[in-house]
Amino acid sequence: MSIINDRISKIHNDIIAACQEFRRNPQEIKILAVSKYHPSELVVNARHAGQLAFGENYVQEAIPKIVSTKAYNLEWHFIGHIQSNKTRAIAEHFDWVHTVASAKVANRLNQQAAYREPINVCIEVNVDLEENKSGVLEAQLLPLAEHIQSLKNLRLRGLMAIPKLRSSFNQQRQPYAKCRELLSRLQLHFGKKIDTLSMGMSNDFQAAIAEGATIIRIGTAIFGPRE
Ligand SMILES: *Cc1c(COP(=O)(O)O)cnc(C)c1O
Repeated sequence: MSIINDRISKIHNDIIAACQEFRRNPQEIKILAVSKYHPSELVVNARHAGQLAFGENYVQEAIPKIVSTKAYNLEWHFIGHIQSNKTRAIAEHFDWVHTVASAKVANRLNQQAAYREPINVCIEVNVDLEENKSGVLEAQLLPLAEHIQSLKNLRLRGLMAIPKLRSSFNQQRQPYAKCRELLSRLQLHFGKKIDTLSMGMSNDFQAAIAEGATIIRIGTAIFGPRE
């Protein structure tokens, strides 16, 4: 418990330091605690340390954790690859989906979310143009955003990216700068309610903050290494 508490405090301090350096408001930055491969006991520990939003990559692993922690009123974010036969379970259990990259998946989530609050959605961008990576390319972004805007059970919030590993801080900033640019293009079309940049992980969240991240997805730096 106290280890997780200490790690979360350290991240808050690091966020404040990065915000001072890059003239950001720390209140615009939400920590998403990525609990994949970690048991619900650790989710509860993080909740006791004040953490409210949690991210999971695998539907089967996530659902028992979501169900067993219902009493804590946590906010759950799906951040993994979406198989279309899993959209119903995602629509039933998650408040946010960060990895929408096709109209087909958007349509399924929209249908299956008909009986709940709208799902907050980010479009995943393949920012490094990687062959075997999911996410849309720049040319597909506006058409998909327009489509999602037309779906009444989805609320388009912004973009998510998982860039390639880079070693220096300045290199880490580059793909995130690209995402920032793409987000402002979406804002020109759809307004400031498109407000989310889900980017940055344990190793590079300061670089993401420098470029406008509003959700940083932190696993290892909160829960320790995964098995
Ligand atoms: C696992 C994962 C994270 C967390 O990564 P860490 O390096 O452990 O902080 C963040 N985002 C996504 C999409 C992930 O799959």
